[in-house]
Amino acid sequence: MEKRDELYAGKAKSVYYTDDPERFVLVFRDDTSAFDGEKKEQLTRKGMVNNRFNAFIMEKLEAAGIPTHFEKLLSPVESLVKKLDMLPVECVVRNVSAGSLCRRLGVEEGQSLTPPTYELFLKNDALHDPMINESLAVTFGWAAADELAQMKILTYKVNEVLKALFEEAGLLLVDYKLEFGRVSGEIVLGDEFSPDGCRIWDMATRKKMDKDRFRQGLGDVIETYEEVGKRLGIQFD
Ligand code: ADP
Ligand code: UDP
Repeated sequence: MEKRDELYAGKAKSVYYTDDPERFVLVFRDDTSAFDGEKKEQLTRKGMVNNRFNAFIMEKLEAAGIPTHFEKLLSPVESLVKKLDMLPVECVVRNVSAGSLCRRLGVEEGQSLTPPTYELFLKNDALHDPMINESLAVTFGWAAADELAQMKILTYKVNEVLKALFEEAGLLLVDYKLEFGRVSGEIVLGDEFSPDGCRIWDMATRKKMDKDRFRQGLGDVIETYEEVGKRLGIQFD
């Protein structure tokens, strides 16, 4: 496998063509951003930590029967993935209230949500990722009704697998965002699952162990990501 030209540089990762038209290389950079790119910093080791974290989680999900784009680790900061036709829709499940849910609905942070909630957002930085629903997604062609149904099933299935995995490590999976894409007529989990795209709290102390440390200037961002990873059994360099 040969890495070719860069296709796209996002806020945290870059996507490269390969000599295989059906595969991309994802490069996890140290760049960190929040608030739609308004707050930006380089955090040493972040690319490596998120790449290894994501590989570990994607393998767990694949083993549980959830189709993912992940193929293999290529280097500390690079992964080989299936090329997907990404859908511009972010799927969010919440087990505990936090973040935009609290701001939007005026509910207190830390409330247990039963059953867990499911929300859709349009992936569009210029519009600040507005909340959408299935009707809007179908009407505007962002995804078909059957694709949305499958994304919802898979997003909740991810919750079953990961909630249990985190719980065993004394961690609370508060919420997370997933992105899906199409390949060969199938809906497949793409992008990444790392502490950048979810909220994780220590079960006993409720310490924030995710990107909220960066958003809220709490410090020790990557050290804390690594602690989460180590508690899950991930080996870092
Ligand atoms: P953003 O685009 O939000 O700034 P990133 O920096 O994480 O985000 O960039 C990675 C980009 O790669 C995202 O736009 C994501 O949708 C896209 N992507 C992730 N996985 C795949 C894949 N398997 N095939 C094609 N594109 C992908
Ligand atoms: N999230 C993300 N990317 C986004 C928006 C949200 O990874 O563009 C994640 C976020 O880290 C959290 C979950 O999705 O784990 C729910 O985010 P929320 O709607 O509360 O928004 P935020 O508070 O991050 O603005």
